[in-house]
Amino acid sequence: MVVAITRPTKIKISKSAITHNVTVTREMSGAKFMFLAVKANAYGFGLQTMAQAAIKGGVDGLAVAVLDEALALRQVGITVPILILGITLPQYAKLMADNDLIATVSDVAWLRQAADNLGATANPLQVNLGVDTGMGRIGFRERDELAEAITYLQQSETPFIYQSIMTHFAEADSLNNDYFHEQLANWHTLTDDLPMPPMVHLANSGAALYHADEIPTDYIRAGTVIYGMEPSRGSVLPDNYLKPVLTLETELIYVKKMPANAAISYGHTYHTQEGEWIGTLPIGYADGLPRPLKGFEVLVNGQKAPIVGNLAMDQMMISLPEELPVGTTVTIIGQQGQYENTLEDVAQHVSLAPWVVATGLQERLMRVIVD
Ligand SMILES: *Cc1c(COP(=O)(O)O)cnc(C)c1O
Repeated sequence: MVVAITRPTKIKISKSAITHNVTVTREMSGAKFMFLAVKANAYGFGLQTMAQAAIKGGVDGLAVAVLDEALALRQVGITVPILILGITLPQYAKLMADNDLIATVSDVAWLRQAADNLGATANPLQVNLGVDTGMGRIGFRERDELAEAITYLQQSETPFIYQSIMTHFAEADSLNNDYFHEQLANWHTLTDDLPMPPMVHLANSGAALYHADEIPTDYIRAGTVIYGMEPSRGSVLPDNYLKPVLTLETELIYVKKMPANAAISYGHTYHTQEGEWIGTLPIGYADGLPRPLKGFEVLVNGQKAPIVGNLAMDQMMISLPEELPVGTTVTIIGQQGQYENTLEDVAQHVSLAPWVVATGLQERLMRVIVD
């Protein structure tokens, strides 16, 4: 159900910024094949919007967390390779095979159960073996079990394809590389001299950008960087090589001149000055803006205007620099004149990571592709 058609509050996704970020990531990492991670509604940027724009912008495949996300992409006609990063129940093996999806596998038992489900299906199931080198999440942790899985894939009468193998770094975007190197050493211990499939991918954004000389990067799985968020948040590299992809805009829906000392919003934490112009915005914390965003300066008429009082569920108030008409554009994330607010700015104001803020942006915000 689409519930975001008539609101003046919307997310704009810049196609040219995505293309720019894909291009620089390819140059910096040397990647020949790039999966874009579009899990969690494409980090909140909008699954279909982001997937279609990114494919036009040069990504080669998509990576999702769960089968449902992959099926949604196939339903809108997306045909590029899709990797499911999480573990899917083996009873959906045939459904994955029929939809030409790549399933991540962490143990041999899963393969045996999937074989029962696949039966003599005409469609083969592409398998991605996960290797746990220190993330402690999913994946093979023992070399002999991994070797057994590879042998099983190669010898099984079930139409499995040993398509892919991966590991995931827990710390690829820090100035301290010790744990990265520990994981890389584990990777070699676990996989060296075992038969490798066509797709070997170790790198997320941080690993692809900062460690391209130490790991294979022909295939990478990038998220953060393509969305224009610097993985180290500026600590390893300044963020100026990326372009921001997301703009969050709304309009003044109501404007009023206040008397002195009038209270604003729940908890009446803010009191107006005599003659202060207060604008109401049709967006609130239920749209995904963090509730502690009070005090953050949004942009209106090329000027800064602070959020005053507590955010409500669907609305919030700003203190206007002057009287402005209803319908005036208000930019919460994005640029107006000389000022720019980024996801990182919002994140810093509320002590969260930018990708945590982004994944909170709700479905009821319309997503539109621009430029
Ligand atoms: C989310 C995810 C990625 C993408 O990570 P970024 O840091 O956003 O580039 C890559 N691999 C796996 C397994 C993931 O879960």
